[in-house]
Amino acid sequence: MNGKMKAALKAEAAPGATVALVDIPQIGPRDVLVQVKAASICGTDMHIYDWDAWAQHRMQTPRIFGHEFAGEVVEVGSEVTQLVPGDFVAAETHITCGHCYQCRTGQAHVCRNVQILGVDRDGAFAEYIAIPESVAWKTGKEIDHSVASIQEPFGNAVHATFAGDITDMTVAVFGCGPIGLWAVGLSQISGASTIFAIEPNHKRLDIAAEMGANYIINPREVDPVRQILDITDGLGVDVVLEMSGHPVAIRQGFKALRSGGRISLLGIPANMVELDLANDIIFKGATVLGISGRRIFDTWYRTRRILESGQLDLKRVITHTLPFEQIHDAMEIMKSGDCGKIVMTFS
Ligand code: ZN
Repeated sequence: MNGKMKAALKAEAAPGATVALVDIPQIGPRDVLVQVKAASICGTDMHIYDWDAWAQHRMQTPRIFGHEFAGEVVEVGSEVTQLVPGDFVAAETHITCGHCYQCRTGQAHVCRNVQILGVDRDGAFAEYIAIPESVAWKTGKEIDHSVASIQEPFGNAVHATFAGDITDMTVAVFGCGPIGLWAVGLSQISGASTIFAIEPNHKRLDIAAEMGANYIINPREVDPVRQILDITDGLGVDVVLEMSGHPVAIRQGFKALRSGGRISLLGIPANMVELDLANDIIFKGATVLGISGRRIFDTWYRTRRILESGQLDLKRVITHTLPFEQIHDAMEIMKSGDCGKIVMTFS
């Protein structure tokens, strides 16, 4: 398709973003062109917007950023076989190579040659995005656009929560941004016996309570480790879901974990984190799982079933919906931390 589109791009290697008219992307034979209906903002987008050390090291400019989205297929390449114009899709944002050791042995979520939408190639903060057919995830047209756009980060919560047993378990979720909030909800619908939500922001704690947390703990007011040990008769929790990436919370998570328990680490620390390996992992016999992305496509099928079952209202985590043109306001709200998920819509 020829023509111009509105897009938010990192025009240069500096903080901020520029909303500009750019060419609609051309598609290759195995690509589809998607008209974006909704795009949500991820912590990664914040790093890119702020142009922090990670972004400076990782990204080239100019680049359209953003990767969580849903939209309508408007054009398909000559070798596309599974999609037709009019289909409604979201996307797995990790474009895997298909031929490395991991891709060929069922571990494509840790592909060695991964390319990420909105980081390594142009992304979704635009009226149109070109994606390989292989990462498109067909979504029911009855699914609300904003809910469809958040399937990708919701998949992170699905992956982390179900990486081990959860039913009848005591669970502590450290960090209640959107992924942590969904993890609370997933634990609740899966029959976790007691759910602790640990988060310094009051608005997020309130949503955690709505999502089914039995105990909400503000670590600025009380010691979460002491409180969890008190309530579990000194045992600690069976499962810790670490979603914050904050070094203090990570250490607290290990202290709150019972011996023989499982901790899923998803939050990404900015720097190295010091841990008491002997006491908190080795002698505890802890199972420590690194959670990266979504299992491709196992997690997506599970996500679809959860959505279709209607057991969990994903929308409760969306606190702000703004038109795409207000992306700078959206980024400021995101930076304040006084929010759940922020979704931008396209007219
Ligand atoms: Zn690969």
